[in-house]
Amino acid sequence: MSEAIIIAVDGPAASGKGTLARRLADHFTLRHLDTGGLYRAAAVRLLESGGDPADAATAEAAARNLAENDLKSPHLRDEEVGQAASILSAHPPVRAALLAYQRDFAATPPGAVLDGRDIGTVVCPEATGKIYLEASAETRAARRAKELRLRGVESIESRVLQEMKDRDARDSGRAVAPLKAAEDALTIDTTGLSPDEVFDLALSYIAARVG
Ligand code: C5P
Repeated sequence: MSEAIIIAVDGPAASGKGTLARRLADHFTLRHLDTGGLYRAAAVRLLESGGDPADAATAEAAARNLAENDLKSPHLRDEEVGQAASILSAHPPVRAALLAYQRDFAATPPGAVLDGRDIGTVVCPEATGKIYLEASAETRAARRAKELRLRGVESIESRVLQEMKDRDARDSGRAVAPLKAAEDALTIDTTGLSPDEVFDLALSYIAARVG
């Protein structure tokens, strides 16, 4: 048995996963892995070489050949990259290629907080604590549009909302490791909550399990 404390934070785009995961990692002095970044990095690699994310073999090659630098691409957070990541991540060989890295990261003492879509269900089903965040698509689109504005990118909110819904449908509808709450996860609807309120709810739940 590993001594690692593993916290899984899952949920759809802009549900607040990244913010919560970073805060929990700081609080418990654990490492943090944004697993969406791995799929995004594979998407950047693929798009830069002119590949099609719908093609399983090309997508798998991009995931298998990921390099540290791909995670630092300035395009990592682009909407186009998010969409491509969501197409590419539906291929089972792509998910298989990234699984060992995520599990090793989680199991290395003292442990880690991983955020993504399938951490509590597939990557770390034995996690110490599992949190599933949700929020209305409208709220998430407004958050994403604000985030884009802060990065100097002007966006049309109705378009962001449509893209968010497309991505939700793809991520929840795929055959392998679909986005869904683990049966034993604490689900928090962050629609009307501040980041502090979400953190407080998550903290009381995790603190009770960490002891
Ligand atoms: O969380 P983020 O928006 O960065 O993720 C980008 C895409 O990567 C998601 O839409 C999803 O398709 C995929 N992903 C996944 N499994 C994870 C994390 C992300 O399939 N654990």
